Amino acid sequence: MSKVHNWQIGREMNFPYPQAFPRRQFAFVFNINRCIACQSCTMACKSTWTFSKGQEHMWWANVETKPYGGYPQFWDAKILDLLEKASPGNQQWSGKPSGDKKNPYGRFDGKTIFEAQNMLTPDSARVLGYLPTDEEWNSPNIFEDNPVGKKGVRNELDKEGTALPEHKTWFFYLARICNHCSYPACLAACPRKAIYKRPEDGIVLIDQSQCRGYRKCVEACPYKKTMYRGNTRVSEKCVACYPRVEGKDPESDGQPMETRCMAACIGKMRMQGLVKMNTDGTWAEDRYNPLYYMVHVAKVALPLYPQFGTEPNGYYIPPRWVPRDYLKQMFGPGVDDAIERYSYPDRELLAVLQLFRRSNRIIFRYEIKEGPKVYEATLRGRKVTMYNDTVIAYGENGKEIFRTQIEEPVHVRPAKHANSI
Ligand code: SF4
Ligand code: SF4
Repeated sequence: MSKVHNWQIGREMNFPYPQAFPRRQFAFVFNINRCIACQSCTMACKSTWTFSKGQEHMWWANVETKPYGGYPQFWDAKILDLLEKASPGNQQWSGKPSGDKKNPYGRFDGKTIFEAQNMLTPDSARVLGYLPTDEEWNSPNIFEDNPVGKKGVRNELDKEGTALPEHKTWFFYLARICNHCSYPACLAACPRKAIYKRPEDGIVLIDQSQCRGYRKCVEACPYKKTMYRGNTRVSEKCVACYPRVEGKDPESDGQPMETRCMAACIGKMRMQGLVKMNTDGTWAEDRYNPLYYMVHVAKVALPLYPQFGTEPNGYYIPPRWVPRDYLKQMFGPGVDDAIERYSYPDRELLAVLQLFRRSNRIIFRYEIKEGPKVYEATLRGRKVTMYNDTVIAYGENGKEIFRTQIEEPVHVRPAKHANSI
């Protein structure tokens, strides 16, 4: 075991290999408040990558209804339970969210899956995990739209309590893909060294020619994002649509494009990027990269279960209406601040939120041109002002991809068209 620094948990932790980081890292922000569970992302991935025999149960991208749904079923409850058993009562955070990039959310004092690995699993195991049963992989969309209701009972509607900050009857959609983690548990557990992380973009891949189907990656990944294919006897996982990220898609014109699941998102809740990395594994200062801004400046997007220890590169803007304790367990101690900022966005955040899904190209930089004041109101006792600013997105080559405004322009179709109404 080596000692590595994990900035998401604010401390050093054990990991089977010495730390090594890519030059740039594939990362994404999902805004849960906007997901409508249309499953367009899920189907875009399925029809692109996993349409063959033996891949029927493979959903590299999935959208589950929390808290009851999950693919495989109960994946997060099960790993949280194992961690609690390995270190009873200690899965806690200390300190406060801060401006320090090596410790932005405080310090996680409990055990990660790499530190609890020999407490419940055999001595030879490198990661604490479990192998889901076939039944748990059966139903990718189980418990869709089932809310937690009165007294915490499933589907028992509470007729009161639909006001923020917490609804009494609640659920939310959690869209998930592989997090292309900085400390991938799948890679750490593979006895064949068949899993690797690309130095150019941090995408985590399985070398199919090296894999022998031991399923150690399936057991180890706390997010359960590697999947075993029975007819080929090797494991497969999300490849982050790497030909698109490399700019090799026929539509891309040589410029990096976002993945298929991002591009298909009807709810406009997904944004993907490539963030610059420092040699110590923290994100290099890149103030006007929209992902850098949302994660490190506005701090409105938070990692999914940072306490697992893999340093996932998927970040979520938490849903506003869900009980905070549940969200804090899922996204860590930054939840209150993130929801506060999202609920009362300042001028810059409002502009950056307009960048979601206006294009399939990866945005590397944005610029804001100030516009006139267009709205003023008092919202839950707070003064809110809106300006019709223009936000401009630039690609890797420095060229403008698009520009858009805070107020969506209205186009009046001339009546001469046959389908005018
Ligand atoms: S989410 Fe799982 S499969 Fe993906 S890189 Fe992390 S540990 Fe590996
Ligand atoms: S396409 Fe977007 S809105 Fe639809 S389910 Fe997927 S993430 Fe949610």
